[in-house]
Amino acid sequence: MASVILNIKVFNLKENTILYIKKDFFKITFFIFVFILLEGCSKKVTAPGPPYSAHVIQMNSMQPSQNYSDAPTYNFQTGTFTWLQNLDQLDGNYFKFIFGGVLTANYVSGSLVSAKSFSQSKSLNLRYKVINGVVVPKDYSTMAMLFSYYQLDTIANNIQTMTGYSMDTIKQKYGKINIFFEPKIELVNDGSTIEASTKLNAAYAPGAHQFIMYQRSTLENVPLAANLQVVAHEFGHSIWELAFDGGQAPDCDRLNLEYAIRGLNEGFADMHSYTLTGSTNVLQNSINIENIPSQRNFSAITFKYDDISGGKADADSNSGNPCTQSFYCIGTLFANALFNAQANNTSPTYVQNSLTGTTGRGAFMTMITTALQATKAGMLNSGNLPDPSTIKFTDFCRPSPGDSNNSTYNGRILGTFFNSFLKQIPLGATRTQICKQLEDNFGTTGFQLT
Ligand SMILES: [Zn+2]
Repeated sequence: MASVILNIKVFNLKENTILYIKKDFFKITFFIFVFILLEGCSKKVTAPGPPYSAHVIQMNSMQPSQNYSDAPTYNFQTGTFTWLQNLDQLDGNYFKFIFGGVLTANYVSGSLVSAKSFSQSKSLNLRYKVINGVVVPKDYSTMAMLFSYYQLDTIANNIQTMTGYSMDTIKQKYGKINIFFEPKIELVNDGSTIEASTKLNAAYAPGAHQFIMYQRSTLENVPLAANLQVVAHEFGHSIWELAFDGGQAPDCDRLNLEYAIRGLNEGFADMHSYTLTGSTNVLQNSINIENIPSQRNFSAITFKYDDISGGKADADSNSGNPCTQSFYCIGTLFANALFNAQANNTSPTYVQNSLTGTTGRGAFMTMITTALQATKAGMLNSGNLPDPSTIKFTDFCRPSPGDSNNSTYNGRILGTFFNSFLKQIPLGATRTQICKQLEDNFGTTGFQLT
């Protein structure tokens, strides 16, 4: 019981969920208030559509003058929704928003929630007006939901290029994906509703295949739920489930609950975000506190596994350690290795500033995603997984008690993963390069060959 409470505090504080007022929050908040406050009372109007157009926040494409580690800029523009069919219900071909309610969960680990059930949704009650056929939100919650839907639409339009999976294939596996907006999360173990609800920002629930979004304060620079980079990260978790778990992460699954695998899942999700946007700086636009964005900015990090093992990754953020994001640090090393392999590959060179094309970011991530599909079976058949009882990991229904103190144990898990994963990548320069980068980052402790 105590460990669950501890997990929530540790993981979610490190999921970067405390939002501080930023010096530069005025940039976007100002615009948000201008177009909300300009609205007086007016009768409900009908928006033309589908397709609907709305005043939404959009990420500007990364420019050649920018580095991959730079945070992209955002602006307000009229955007047209591709897949939204019913504006007032925020219901479309692939996504449906559900407002409020209580989500019961077994545990929260990073941005993953093990949802068990959901109840008591309220009606959406969107408030907007229509100006020249364009939907303009009249309150913050309408704005946050519309913006969020728009980011999901953007991802849906690109997902096949990014991963090889079409939205129709995803829908066949998952059904229409619900996005729970502003739910309370109640943990079945201790009923600590407030703890989980107030510290999460955006999350994915494997098994239930649902996303959870919070609007948070009006003082965020780019609202989390409207940040394409953050939404793409969460969507990456659903792709991991599709590839690594064949579309259905089992309940009480030892491998998924291992510290190291939770880390790899996070790194994969960051890689997924970068594949879409071209930026590895996933968090700076929404959460710019302490040094969290820079520790996650995987093209720019310089630490190695040995620098974060022996308890360092789980130490206090004031410890001076190069990464204090717990299991996320392992994911950041994984994403960094993939990023460098993509950059250094000579035959063919993957084009990092292009999403599309046979050697674009999408092609690289599709290869990674495809390799993930048989990785789990390979791990289970390897006979090389360490005995979980060595770290007192006996309850496979909640995250392992492991941490970065279990350097050797985690290295066995990682080595088993990497060996199985690499076998799924076609023999050649790309595989050689990925292997080399993984060896560079994880060393002999973090990438054990046994
Ligand atoms: Zn995550």
